[in-house]
Amino acid sequence: MPEKPFIYRFSADLRLEDHAGLAAAASRGGVLPIIVIDDALASRLKASPRRAAFFCSAVAALASELKEMGSRLLVRRGPAAKTIAELARATGADGAAWSASYDAQGIRDDRRLQSALEEAGLTALLVHDAPVIPPEEGAAARGADGAGYRAFAPYFERWWKLGIASYENPLLLRFIASEAGDEALPNPREFGSGEDGCVASPQAARILLERFLEDRAAQYGAASAIPSENGTSQLAAHISFGTISARTIARSVRERFGDPFSLAEERVSLRLFLRALARRDFFLQLSWFYPDATEAALQEKMTGFALAQDHPALDAWRAGKTGYPLVDAGIRQLHQTGWMHPHVRAVVASLLCFDLSVDWRVGREEWNRWLVEDDPAVATGNWQWIAGVGADMAQFPRIYNPERQRRRFDPDGTYVRRWIPELRHIPREAWHGRADDSLQLSLSLFERDAYPQPVVDHAVAARAFLTRYRAFVSP
Ligand SMILES: Cc1cc2nc3c(=O)[nH]c(=O)nc-3n(C[C@H](O)[C@H](O)[C@H](O)COP(=O)(O)OP(=O)(O)OC[C@H]3O[C@@H](n4cnc5c(N)ncnc54)[C@H](O)[C@@H]3O)c2cc1C
Repeated sequence: MPEKPFIYRFSADLRLEDHAGLAAAASRGGVLPIIVIDDALASRLKASPRRAAFFCSAVAALASELKEMGSRLLVRRGPAAKTIAELARATGADGAAWSASYDAQGIRDDRRLQSALEEAGLTALLVHDAPVIPPEEGAAARGADGAGYRAFAPYFERWWKLGIASYENPLLLRFIASEAGDEALPNPREFGSGEDGCVASPQAARILLERFLEDRAAQYGAASAIPSENGTSQLAAHISFGTISARTIARSVRERFGDPFSLAEERVSLRLFLRALARRDFFLQLSWFYPDATEAALQEKMTGFALAQDHPALDAWRAGKTGYPLVDAGIRQLHQTGWMHPHVRAVVASLLCFDLSVDWRVGREEWNRWLVEDDPAVATGNWQWIAGVGADMAQFPRIYNPERQRRRFDPDGTYVRRWIPELRHIPREAWHGRADDSLQLSLSLFERDAYPQPVVDHAVAARAFLTRYRAFVSP
């Protein structure tokens, strides 16, 4: 008798390896794979042309892997609940599994889908695949009210000790090739993207991970904050679309950490890298337990703190023309590649939130138009963290001095000159400056007509923000 099908709906988990969702579906029957492009997904893809190209390339790779396994990825466009219920009726499937979303809208959509399928008499399995450690597991380990962690340091200490589940057994997966009619694979052009040539696949993600582990992981501690060095893994887009499992990455790094022959410096670096991965889990669980924080400050004490929606220098910030070279280089790197170096992100976001006093949501929305990464819960967690209204427990917001950061992390201007052509003619030696040089002194190097003067005086703007902040939190 032919095996009963069970539907698996792919979303931000575009691979077959180490896959919690697929493992759950396979335990119920032969897996019938589908991808549903509903309005929510289409709108996130339309927001960023490079994201659309990445997604389409990853779906094409998944479709061809499934074909090799004798199956076929069904593609449907339309509301998820209706599409999946119809497919179940047409194929006799008992139900569907899919991996959980962590942002507020995704959580709502998942719940709606779950209820709709259950009302139709189908089994609905919502599976945690994206994080290394599922939110409930972290919360249970905390042993308190089950509401998850709001502070990162204790979260990481628990995370570090918890075992990582493995679903690395693709041979156990049995796929069914459906006879159901199909639609064309997604194409970047249907999301308004003219981007071509993006190669996003599990294989590309594996290669990136292997190269990182071989060449750069041991120096991650020292190199990850230096924007010119590409010292980080650049795996974020792959992780966010699931072309590689965060568990696979964490396991590889933990194994290497456990190698008795690794040097102390390397172990420090590997721990820091795991800390970065744990930070992603931390923000996912935060959003899972506190979905309202997608739009409102996680820190209740900051409710009502006035944030501007606009500023005379906002367009300059958006365009990478603030007159602060590190900030402008970061924005232009983002525009040209769909990615910005993590440390530079913090400095660029700080300028928006503090020097310009603009709402962190304005920044999050702006970057959503450019980033390849598609991790709304992670975006929110980071923006709130930087803006001092989220999970960061520091007493006062950490306001970065953009020129001091430039001198410290890009002392000879390598990064800045790479992304800002107007500044390329300035020789390396001229960038160093003395620690006590004022920004104005260093900026006299730049030709006024080619590169703008700073749009705000950082010292004045930061002081004004802090005064307002202090008055608000302890009137
Ligand atoms: C203001 C701001 C906005 C951000 N917006 C996003 C976003 O929209 N989507 C997104 O995925 N990341 C976001 N980040 C986090 C981080 O900067 C990016 O994930 C970045 O691409 C990591 O680069 P990498 O892969 O080379 O990191 P690595 O340093 O190699 O770290 C490995 C992995 O750990 C995770 N990680 C590292 N740093 C963080 C962090 N701060 N928070 C959560 N996870 C982390 C990522 O999955 C990353 O791929 C933001 C950070 C800031 C400061």
